[in-house]
Amino acid sequence: MSLLTVGTVAFDAIETPFGKADKIVGGAATYISLAASYFKNDVKLVSVVGDDFPQEVLNDLKKRNISLDGLQVKEGEKSFFWAGKYHYNMNDRDTLDTQLNVLADFDPVLPEAYKDSEFVMLGNLTPAVQMRVLEQLNQRPKAVAMDTMNFWMDTAMDSLKEVISKVDILTINDEEAKQLSGEYSLVRAAHKIFEMGPKYLVIKKGEHGALLFHGEEVFFAPALPLQDVFDPTGAGDTFAGGFMGWLARSGDLSFENMKRAVIYGSVLASFCVEKFGIERLKELTLDEITQRLDRFVRLTHFSVKKLD
Ligand code: AMP
Repeated sequence: MSLLTVGTVAFDAIETPFGKADKIVGGAATYISLAASYFKNDVKLVSVVGDDFPQEVLNDLKKRNISLDGLQVKEGEKSFFWAGKYHYNMNDRDTLDTQLNVLADFDPVLPEAYKDSEFVMLGNLTPAVQMRVLEQLNQRPKAVAMDTMNFWMDTAMDSLKEVISKVDILTINDEEAKQLSGEYSLVRAAHKIFEMGPKYLVIKKGEHGALLFHGEEVFFAPALPLQDVFDPTGAGDTFAGGFMGWLARSGDLSFENMKRAVIYGSVLASFCVEKFGIERLKELTLDEITQRLDRFVRLTHFSVKKLD
């Protein structure tokens, strides 16, 4: 089934305790569409870049069968830019700079072929733009997922809540779940967020895995313990791309299948952090994905022996 995604396609400057990159390709939609492309052909991308964005990268995305018909290229303007610095624990980071540039007055226009998409992943960007995408769809998709971050909670909470009220699945990190709900307990936070609209909530906890909430049910997937984590940027978006890629490929919205989607999201995210930016994500083979899926199964499988 068809998958549409909207989000930033951007330049990032990243500093981790282990390295530094001044200007590399990033952006939520870049990570989402690359991750999803391992599950689905013809992922439909909606975004905007300036004329400073490298054509080779766009060609690479096209080669992975990602449709760029919904990508606007603005002559004489600069692409979205974000700079972040990770703490020594590699889980926490500070945003050093956010330059909206082309995003400041972005009006997304969905090509006709995008308007019947059955699965939609609203990647992290201006809530009003996420809403504009939903408004242009011909009918309600089978599932709409949404990612966002504290930046939008601080600057556009009202329009953010309006979009949240329209989505089925919300994916955010633990600090953002606490900020959005005003609750410290993640279980309480989940219930507050369900009252805002979504039926499913995925809380990403970085190297501590991800939680899936639905009604009274909870599922937990650990992150794969890795020898080296080079750059966590984009791990959350990669998770979302793997998660929605699997759902769109299978077309199955049962809770059991959502659990598989969480595992696939975690598998793809575990690759993302192994190199800077999108480098690792660009070069995966299906064999590598399958082997890592097996490692997840071994990591989490155990048999029980009850006390007599
Ligand atoms: P993640 O590490 O999954 O949270 O995603 C990091 C990516 O999100 C980077 O590549 C940034 O370009 C992008 N990003 C950072 N801040 C924002 C923002 N306020 N809106 C949209 N995208 C952002």
